[in-house]
Amino acid sequence: MLYDVVIIGSGPAGYTAGIYSTRAGLKTLILEGEDYGGQLMTTTDVHNFPGFPDGINGPDLMINMRKQCANLGCEILSQTVTSVDLSDHNPFHVVTPTERYVSRSVIVATGATAKKLDIPSGDTFWNHGISACAVCDGALPMFRNKNLVVVGGGDTACEEALFLSRFGRKVYIVVRSSKMRASYRMKQEVEKNEKIVVIYNTTVIDVSGTVTNELTRVNSVKLFDNAIEEEIEISIGGMFYAIGHTPNTSFLNGALKVNDAGYIISDNTKTEIPGVFVCGDVQDYIYRQAITAAGSGCMAALEAERYLMSQ
Ligand code: NDP
Repeated sequence: MLYDVVIIGSGPAGYTAGIYSTRAGLKTLILEGEDYGGQLMTTTDVHNFPGFPDGINGPDLMINMRKQCANLGCEILSQTVTSVDLSDHNPFHVVTPTERYVSRSVIVATGATAKKLDIPSGDTFWNHGISACAVCDGALPMFRNKNLVVVGGGDTACEEALFLSRFGRKVYIVVRSSKMRASYRMKQEVEKNEKIVVIYNTTVIDVSGTVTNELTRVNSVKLFDNAIEEEIEISIGGMFYAIGHTPNTSFLNGALKVNDAGYIISDNTKTEIPGVFVCGDVQDYIYRQAITAAGSGCMAALEAERYLMSQ
């Protein structure tokens, strides 16, 4: 079986690529992994994806995208890609534990995984007061006028804190070392913002809160100040991880060029290998939004179509 397009990954980027390439009449296979849907499957309400005036639950959004692909005739298999062979341009080989798929073009849409802190109550409060995306979740009512914590000292931490300062009472940026890694401009913005307090040399011990059948909410964080070797407890309404993301590229085994942070390098979704395209968070360290991932999925499919037409 020779496919026109094999899409690896099943977040907004992968499914949007699937919708466009199937509608273009291309024989398309999505290898969605064993757990489909990507990061939105662990999100609650999504209020910034256009078309849903009352918001939509993250998993519902992904189920809808998947259904839309399937309804259009796209083949979808719940298999995880373990390796690729992109060396022989025509065709490419995409390998799962049980099969080897052969395709004239490949779209990589495997996303990135937000790094989480390893704290005892981290799983209990994940998505119930702990998040890794302020832009996605920060405007929720549960965070309004509350003290909030952002963990990390990079550009993302600054950006998240600046965003959260619009809603929270006070935003604490907890930095584990004595300096922030963020760019000069970002640090200046943070310093100018009266709602933001940066706490250096400090690590998170744990969070605590309310856990009942009806409600799970964070209400305080315990920190350790390594400089004075003392515990501090702050009452908070939420904590946001900004300690980096890991782009999901291990299955590529170096087949595509990545930047210093591990994101695949591309030019308008085109990689250095003609016929291999990339979209979504695995190539985007700046925006990382569902809508930008979906937009780049559309671009990748259009580029794949153009490439196949030119062959
Ligand atoms: P970074 O890798 O730059 O920063 C991660 C931060 O998290 C560092 O301060 C690091 O501390 C800290 N950290 C890592 N692990 C832990 C841990 N276990 N506990 C506590 N703190 C931890 O990631 P970013 O997501 O901030 O940025 C990634 C890239 O994206 C960068 O190149 C950045 O410039 C770029 N970016 C650009 C933006 C823009 O241009 N608008 C916006 C956002 C990001 P330490 O320094 O001690 O290692």
